[in-house]
Amino acid sequence: MTEKESRKGGISVSTENIFPVIKKWLYSEKEIFLRELVSNACDAVSKLKRLSSLGEYSPQEEENYRITVKADKDEKTLTVSDNGVGMTSEEVEKYICNIALSGAADFIEKYEGKDSASGIIGHFGLGFYSAFMVADSVEIVTKSYTGAPGTHWRIDDSGEYEILDDACERGRGTDVILHINEEGEEYLDEFKCREVLSKYCSFMPVEIFFEKAQDETDDKKEDADKKPPVPVNDTHPLWLKNPSDCTDEEYNDFYRKVFHDFRQPLFRIHINADYPLNFKGILYFPPIRSEYDTLEGQVKLYYNQVFVADNIKEVIPDYLLLLRGVLDCPELPLNVSRSYLQNSGYVSKISQHITKKVADKLVSLFTNERKSYEGFWEDIKVFARYGAIKDRKFYEKVKSALLLKLTDDSFVNLDEYLEQAKETHKDKVYYTSDKVLQAQYVKMFTDKGIKVVCLSGPLDMQYISFLESDMKITFSRVDSDTAALREEGGQSDDIAGKEAITKLFRDRSGKEDMSVRFEKLGEKAPAAVLNLSESDRRFDDMMKFYSTSRNETTDDPSYSLILNSSSPLITKLCDAASKDAENEKLVSAVKQIWYLSLLAQRRLTADELYCFINDSFSSIENSL
Ligand code: ADP
Ligand code: MG
Repeated sequence: MTEKESRKGGISVSTENIFPVIKKWLYSEKEIFLRELVSNACDAVSKLKRLSSLGEYSPQEEENYRITVKADKDEKTLTVSDNGVGMTSEEVEKYICNIALSGAADFIEKYEGKDSASGIIGHFGLGFYSAFMVADSVEIVTKSYTGAPGTHWRIDDSGEYEILDDACERGRGTDVILHINEEGEEYLDEFKCREVLSKYCSFMPVEIFFEKAQDETDDKKEDADKKPPVPVNDTHPLWLKNPSDCTDEEYNDFYRKVFHDFRQPLFRIHINADYPLNFKGILYFPPIRSEYDTLEGQVKLYYNQVFVADNIKEVIPDYLLLLRGVLDCPELPLNVSRSYLQNSGYVSKISQHITKKVADKLVSLFTNERKSYEGFWEDIKVFARYGAIKDRKFYEKVKSALLLKLTDDSFVNLDEYLEQAKETHKDKVYYTSDKVLQAQYVKMFTDKGIKVVCLSGPLDMQYISFLESDMKITFSRVDSDTAALREEGGQSDDIAGKEAITKLFRDRSGKEDMSVRFEKLGEKAPAAVLNLSESDRRFDDMMKFYSTSRNETTDDPSYSLILNSSSPLITKLCDAASKDAENEKLVSAVKQIWYLSLLAQRRLTADELYCFINDSFSSIENSL
């Protein structure tokens, strides 16, 4: 047999039907075949660079390392070429035919029968053989840097290989030619191909060019205005640079390019963790204006500049997924199961490191640039509060930088609030969930110099409970108690007409058991306010949250009515009641006071509104 004669052989692997399994298995993520082939090409170039830096290979002239991906629709081929180390014939046999496939066999043995969606991450490990998701046969034309003769192989999806040419002429490097099958046809399309390259290969370390097989007329046109080809990737992504060498502009450009978001990120954290963690990344805080916006967060995970996946929960604490960023973790064992990652010490250390960096950043902004930090607090509060609730360590570190917005639009942290409050309402925080609807109540507090915090939305309520359980403090909504508002002499008991007034209010409101109290709240405070205890209201809110329909009046929670005995109106009312409790004017005043206090508390029902307006008209008429 001469050298040029072709040889045939079979791939030595015991697992039969391996290709159908590969195809079926990876069906949902076919496109990763391109990542695998291009990253192999990158590896081949990196190996050569290493050899040359070790002096084991001396380049002829200045090397121009590159990878090309070429689609040919007519021939139905997709070719990935590189000028890296190349392979000798023995190496093809060893690495492609034996090792690669036995690696695949191991892989399948391990994961066969498990749910493909949750069983593995990113499908690393199949490498070269993922080509068979889109191809029926693959040719490899390669020549090793060692100077051994080039070889030309063909491998088909039954696992058979054939050597087409044992001493083919070509320069150093490798072409992997995929004969695309029906399932893979879309990848011959330039748009699709570029899309996949941009998703997975945007930051690979060797320049990658896309080429389309051109027919002759196209060629002529091209010649006329030939532009130098542009690589599809950026071989030096920003995260690899030293943070002190990066400018704001570079950070912003990078953000815009990677996340296609033209808004400016608020700030960022450049992580550069050395041994033993050895990972790098940039996390951005995007501007977030509502709780729903936050769903757009995206943290891209890379493995040595090769894109793996977005938002891998096992690696990144889930509240960090509200941010945007890139993480390159070359030490991550990606060809393992998700449950392994979840329990891996390395992964949890990465997570902790990120958490610490983020917390440090927030605290340093709070301490050193408080004004601007306050300026974007509204954007980051969802993230920060969610993080605090979810992650004890994060909370402990970031505590001082967690702000509360007051009704006058200024900001305090909890310690500052409690410090100011210690005279009037120790260990208690007054808050409003809606400073317009609760304006009347808010005013009562602010008039007395008591700060009121704005907290609304379901996450804030969760946050309140969290702080309460952590700090032995309570949060009270402005309409839940008047403890901090009472003047010297607090509750007033011996009031003439008290019984009569109480009865009148109970009758008029239709609430027979309503608690009616007289308290000195000061002359400026309203004559009457309705309170609903914090715990009752929370329970009520919860019920509202879970039930769909609800009749407002009959389901009214148990209000207490507080009549302000320092108010001249209440003094007059009591006076009148002690003389004649049946007096018509008195009755209509009670009714109006009731409606007004209700109005400050909640929306009136249709009936209430109707009665209130009509009664008011009549009383105006009577007073003229
Ligand atoms: P892995 O990349 O994880 O080693 P692959 O299945 O992707 O597994 O590749 C198997 C082996 O084939 C590689 O380790 C390498 O030795 C060889 N190989 C694949 N592609 C190339 C290439 N373009 N140039 C040189 N060697 C290659
Ligand atoms: Mg590989």
